[in-house]
Amino acid sequence: MALLKIYRHARQHGLSSCVKKIFEVLPGYIGVLYLWRVRRCQCCDRITIFLCNSSAAESRACLFCSANERYELLATEIKTRFRDNLSEKDVLELDPHSPLRKILAHARSYTRSFYEAGKNGGSARTDGAVCEDITHLTFRDDSFDLIISSDVLEHVPFLDKAFNETARVLRPAGAHLFTVPPRTKTKKRSEVVDGAIHHIETPEYHRDPLCPQGILAFWDIGADLPQVIPSAGLDIRIARGPAGNDGRVVWIAERGQ
Ligand SMILES: [Zn+2]
Repeated sequence: MALLKIYRHARQHGLSSCVKKIFEVLPGYIGVLYLWRVRRCQCCDRITIFLCNSSAAESRACLFCSANERYELLATEIKTRFRDNLSEKDVLELDPHSPLRKILAHARSYTRSFYEAGKNGGSARTDGAVCEDITHLTFRDDSFDLIISSDVLEHVPFLDKAFNETARVLRPAGAHLFTVPPRTKTKKRSEVVDGAIHHIETPEYHRDPLCPQGILAFWDIGADLPQVIPSAGLDIRIARGPAGNDGRVVWIAERGQ
């Protein structure tokens, strides 16, 4: 229930819908008031309230920028890794409304993307975000120094193609920093066979602002990811974590020199 999300909801659905929504969700937040925390946010750098409506780390988010635990972990990794030279880096983030926006705006260039099935790759929305499929990116080879994604890769059926594409558009020594929901082992939950989705495990859907019914997770991704997924030209390893009750980590997939 961050201020930014409230603002976006009001712009998209109108003020009365926004007020109705706030009164719907407010009791859930008030009920766990004792779990709220006041501290500095790693993403927007403000002293803020981290609101939540459950004990899950994923639900605790900055009042101002909506950053939760995984975005704060990414923010800490980006600030540590690119402390002095972010302004020399070209960055692609696979998220049009990221709480990392304030930090990444200091990059030499900052491209935000979203995915929408059926929409032409490379087409831009009015807010400047570009439609991109991570398995068929429209960018030239060696376009970026840094790619960021947060809980995206588990939704990509052909994970090897995604890594091939990020390796292609990254410059030598460039890196893809990403998070995925922590799991014990890497395995397919669902797959696409002859254009149809086939479920191997019980279908698991994650929340997605672009998809009200939720988005299917094709993968569980665990610490054995580098041994399971072939990724030519990328060194995939854990860069930060585990942190928090869920053991969240920041992964890095780094292109060689
Ligand atoms: Zn914040």
